[in-house]
Amino acid sequence: MRFILLIVLIVVAFWVIRRALRSLNKPNIPEKPPIHGELVSCARCGMHLPRAEAREAGGVLFCSEEHARLGSGKG
Ligand SMILES: [Zn+2]
Repeated sequence: MRFILLIVLIVVAFWVIRRALRSLNKPNIPEKPPIHGELVSCARCGMHLPRAEAREAGGVLFCSEEHARLGSGKG
């Protein structure tokens, strides 16, 4: 009967080790940090920037004060 007891002990030890390894090797998928606010593109140069940093002129969004002054078109 000692032989069976030994097998049971090995199986239990194997199961405990496997469980421990599984808890250690958790799939750690790095999550991308959430983008604060929506991204908009400048009507002049097309650069993407957060909505909070964009300048608005005539219902159109720009990346900077200068581009807002220049406008989306030529001239
Ligand atoms: Zn721009």
